[in-house]
Amino acid sequence: METYKHILLALDFSEPDSYVIQKARHLAEMFRARLSIIHVLDNIPMPDMAYGTKIRLDENSGDDLLETEKSKLKQIGDELGVGPACRWMVWGVPGPEIVRLAEEEDIDLVIVGSHGRHGLALLLGSTANSVLHHAKCDVMAIRLPDEVTSDEPLGEIAARMSG
Ligand code: AMP
Repeated sequence: METYKHILLALDFSEPDSYVIQKARHLAEMFRARLSIIHVLDNIPMPDMAYGTKIRLDENSGDDLLETEKSKLKQIGDELGVGPACRWMVWGVPGPEIVRLAEEEDIDLVIVGSHGRHGLALLLGSTANSVLHHAKCDVMAIRLPDEVTSDEPLGEIAARMSG
């Protein structure tokens, strides 16, 4: 069977990320695949930047908010053993930018979290939906646990969910 060689994990830095991270780690180990990570910056105004611009991770921008986002990516990258060359931060709309990077980097599996939305939210679409519909490679949507609450430490959630 053809196995996955390069997996891209999409991170929104929300609380349930830790659950998706554990799954991605196991899958990458299982397939002995290279693992890359991406966070699309969609929460900091970047008026002079075109969508799709890759943010330099190796130099200080002087913008505290941006540096905070970079340090989150660095922390997860370090935790997963993902080297700097496989860490991506891109300015834009998450769905299209994840799909674009997947094509550019020859990704054969994209992993996203899925909230299992229904009703109006589903009609409006979500990042998971967007990637699922537009990516040329396989996409794995990890159903995020509904019961995650903001009071519970991340490590405990991950341990409970993977156990
Ligand atoms: P959403 O559809 O926005 O609820 O997000 C579902 C999943 O899409 C998240 O678990 C991530 O895997 C991915 N995602 C959402 N927003 C971003 C983002 N800004 N950067 C990277 N991945 C994202």
